[in-house]
Amino acid sequence: MAAMSMKMSQRFMPPRVAVPAMKRDLLDILACPLCKGDLTLEVFEENETEIVTGKLCCNACKECYPIEDSIPNMLPPDLRD
Ligand SMILES: [Zn+2]
Repeated sequence: MAAMSMKMSQRFMPPRVAVPAMKRDLLDILACPLCKGDLTLEVFEENETEIVTGKLCCNACKECYPIEDSIPNMLPPDLRD
């Protein structure tokens, strides 16, 4: 339960400029932009500090968001190219 309360407090951190590079601990502060559900990280390629390519999938609505060049694309599908 301690881990859960930590997750909640991290989610209320002030927003940062732009989207930070995708690190594993970033998963704790990211939520699905559509339904605010928790995301599951799937890693295709990573280096010592960052996830380089992969995807984030929502546990609730099953939408997936790609990670490319270490940057997670959190735009809802309607707003992507
Ligand atoms: Zn969702």
